[in-house]
Amino acid sequence: MTTQSTHPYHLIVKPVGAKCNLDCNYCYYLRKEERYEPNATMQMSEAVLETYTKQYIESQPQQAKHIEFSWQGGEPTLRGLDFFKKAVELQQKYARPGMTITNNFQTNGTLINDRWAAFFKENNFLIGISIDGSEKNHNSTRPDIKGNDSLHLTLRGLEALKKYDVAFNTLSVVHNENAHLAKETYQELKDLGSTVIQFQPCVEHPSDQRSDKDWSLTPQQWGHFLCDVFDQWKKEDVGKIHIQFFENTLGILAGQPSQMCFHSELCGQQMMLEHDGSLYSCDHYSYDEYQVGHMTPANIDSNLIDSIDLGAIACSDRQKEFGTNKWTTLPQQCRKCHFRPFCNGGCPKDRTAITADLEPGLNHLCVGYKQFFLYSMPYFGAMLEAIQQGHSAAMYPIFLK
Ligand code: SF4
Ligand code: SF4
Repeated sequence: MTTQSTHPYHLIVKPVGAKCNLDCNYCYYLRKEERYEPNATMQMSEAVLETYTKQYIESQPQQAKHIEFSWQGGEPTLRGLDFFKKAVELQQKYARPGMTITNNFQTNGTLINDRWAAFFKENNFLIGISIDGSEKNHNSTRPDIKGNDSLHLTLRGLEALKKYDVAFNTLSVVHNENAHLAKETYQELKDLGSTVIQFQPCVEHPSDQRSDKDWSLTPQQWGHFLCDVFDQWKKEDVGKIHIQFFENTLGILAGQPSQMCFHSELCGQQMMLEHDGSLYSCDHYSYDEYQVGHMTPANIDSNLIDSIDLGAIACSDRQKEFGTNKWTTLPQQCRKCHFRPFCNGGCPKDRTAITADLEPGLNHLCVGYKQFFLYSMPYFGAMLEAIQQGHSAAMYPIFLK
């Protein structure tokens, strides 16, 4: 029996580690392959799958009625459909009475066909498609491992999802060569039918960078990008298109907690499990010093491994300290910042700049975040007022001061 955690926690799982059929230039995860033997298969075993499924469910607090399984890569479809059929079977086997289980699955979409789409529909998976926009934008940085274009394959996968009416959202990386394409990219994502959109700013780190080329955005590019998209969105899409960062900002203004870990006060509630059973404090910190546990294959007993206690690790002092470090290392400039509740200094991994009074730990994108908050806040204020007076947020122009 695993320890029951005192709080709900989330686990991101990499069933094939960093293995991918694409070779995206800015990917922060592909270099993780270097940790393994050159020909390692990087496939999660069924023993690890069953152990983690059982413990992940058993270790959630007694009152937890909903558990979400999150699959990422690399490219998770490379683990094969049968693996995910088994995963769903195990989720049902270990679910507590009355508990609902959902799955989200981040993919480049290139291998999705009718069989995958039918499975996703049948099991109510939410699919996140990684797509950067137009042909030129997408293909220039997201080639396959042989250097060929990949957008047509991603679009083929997306068509299969639509054919089977599978719920999907999109994730687009914003880097220094496509940041000027804000309006075009937003329009293309809408044209593809995406109504839930996430933009991820690219901030590279020397330990993950794959070539001499640094794809990081400048803070100014990030600010302009967000403001340009915001302009389009506020014109015609409020309440219709959900842009994660915008909705998060509005939610915080309304007094809700941040739904994005980047902009929460604390981290630590989202660990990551690698294909080989190694467990890390966070997906963005999969380095040896942040490894918090390991399911050791040598201890396999029938099809379960007993060498790890997920619940105990989730509420361990070490994991708590990882989470509170986000707050304790926040520089004074952020603590005094008017926009701190909306930003919270962003992800600690991106805090590579220094403040005006030379304190380390300022977010590389700070100037861009400030530009966006300064510009958008009157509109968010009006949207909140519209909602509070019983209207839709789209009625915000009436409440603009
Ligand atoms: S906008 Fe800048 S100063 Fe303000 S909290 Fe964010 S990173 Fe810190
Ligand atoms: S380290 Fe970054 S990615 Fe990880 S939980 Fe914290 S904010 Fe999120």
